[in-house]
Amino acid sequence: MPRLITLADGRSVEVECVSCALTSGLISSTGGVIFESSNFHVHQDIAYPIKGLVILASKRHFYCMDELTDEERLEFISLIHKLRSEQRKRLGIEKVYYFYNEDTTHHFHLWMVPRYEWMYQFGNSVESLRPALLHARNNMNDDENMKSVEEGVSILREGMRDFVSSSM
Ligand SMILES: [Zn+2]
Repeated sequence: MPRLITLADGRSVEVECVSCALTSGLISSTGGVIFESSNFHVHQDIAYPIKGLVILASKRHFYCMDELTDEERLEFISLIHKLRSEQRKRLGIEKVYYFYNEDTTHHFHLWMVPRYEWMYQFGNSVESLRPALLHARNNMNDDENMKSVEEGVSILREGMRDFVSSSM
């Protein structure tokens, strides 16, 4: 069933699967593509303007971890490792929350959510994630922050240029 999604910049679009729409380029994410291969697509989260919040999505439309092909799973772990390294090296991100669920209206994708100081006002662990994301969407939509988020995208894109997939 098509659903209406609200992008970080305030626009709304109606799509069948947000991940298909993003990985095929039908809709573009904030700041553009961070990394793309034949199996995966890496982009800034489109709804929550948090610098360095990376979404690693498969290009194929499926939901479960056990549906990854051998080639995909090798590239998947290499990509997580590389993205995490670049988050630390280039954006100074010290802690990341990883979030992945199979009962999604999107398809297979991993969230890599940086843990920033300001998020501690919402608690210490996973229960703070939702309020922190909503806080970002509702209160961090200003031009200055959006510019900083887009800057994060281009910094990570630069960092991913030398990524060599282990599946190749
Ligand atoms: Zn899909």
